[in-house]
Amino acid sequence: MRTQVAIIGAGPAGLLLGQLLYKSGVDAIIIEQRSPDYVLGRIRAGVLEQVSMDLLDQAGVGARAHAEGLPHDGIELLFKGARHRIDLHELTGGSRVTVYGQTEVTRDLMDARAAAGLTTVYDAQNVQVHDLASQNPRVTYQKDGQTHELACDFIAGCDGYHGVCRASAPADLLKTYERVYPFGWLGVLADVPPVSHELIYANTERGFALCSMRSATRSRYYVQVPNTDKIENWSIDQFWTELGNRLDPEARANLVTGPALEMSIAPLRSFVAEPMRFGRMFLAGDAAHIVPPTGAKGLNLAASDVGFLW
Ligand SMILES: Cc1cc2nc3c(=O)[nH]c(=O)nc-3n(C[C@H](O)[C@H](O)[C@H](O)COP(=O)(O)OP(=O)(O)OC[C@H]3O[C@@H](n4cnc5c(N)ncnc54)[C@H](O)[C@@H]3O)c2cc1C
Repeated sequence: MRTQVAIIGAGPAGLLLGQLLYKSGVDAIIIEQRSPDYVLGRIRAGVLEQVSMDLLDQAGVGARAHAEGLPHDGIELLFKGARHRIDLHELTGGSRVTVYGQTEVTRDLMDARAAAGLTTVYDAQNVQVHDLASQNPRVTYQKDGQTHELACDFIAGCDGYHGVCRASAPADLLKTYERVYPFGWLGVLADVPPVSHELIYANTERGFALCSMRSATRSRYYVQVPNTDKIENWSIDQFWTELGNRLDPEARANLVTGPALEMSIAPLRSFVAEPMRFGRMFLAGDAAHIVPPTGAKGLNLAASDVGFLW
């Protein structure tokens, strides 16, 4: 098999890059180690910055995000018990964020790829990248018990933090920087209406809290906990009580509680690898850097990387 760009990973970075290249007439094949159902089943970020919305539009897949996403013109910062609204729209000269789940972005990109008849190899095992410094890099992988080879002009390493691409970069060229924070975020996803129309970032003596959302009926909440804390220490009722304790009276009064669709503790850290190019292989998204999940920065940074790479 041969293609111009071999994209490793069908997360948002890989799928978006594939669609933008297709729109530009560049041939690309995506190699993904998981199944389509697994990729679509991952619940992750949910806020799209303007740059991500613009790139989805350029990729021709922005229609549903515009129709179903919740546009937000601002955010609220809560400290010392008072909320202060930051008008993003006015301060940035017209930008806004759109609440729209990463899962839905992934679905839109996968659907567009399938509709265009583009090749994505799912369930690829033992993916390896070769000859990065040459004019003829290659990717090998196993599927259905057979070894396959994909010859290409360029490799895009969009395979996330645990992927093979960064791990295959020459050790003498790769520099990495990491900071592990002494806290994590206990997060709950629940089918309850959000406490407020816009996101609330709360600084309190009990620790940080974030009121986010995925839709008008699905909320995403976080409270900061020590990084030694364990999910077994928390019941959903304890979570709602602690979240309420970190909100102002108005938000607390609006807090609707319910069972958790998902509840986990995410350790927080920052990780940066440089450079992002090794011969004919380029890194994009979580493959190159991990940021704390505030404001869906990881998803938006992945999209931004792809915008520059494309
Ligand atoms: C569990 C989790 C929860 C998150 N929650 C939030 C959140 O609430 N808010 C927020 O802002 N951000 C969140 N993030 C971060 C955000 O989702 C990421 O920044 C974003 O997904 C980055 O996109 P990506 O395409 O670069 O990488 P990924 O989404 O990680 O995609 C990489 C793809 O490569 C595939 N892959 C990996 N290794 C290989 C291989 N060897 N061969 C082939 N394919 C491979 C993976 O299966 C995956 O499909 C979360 C991340 C994780 C992991």
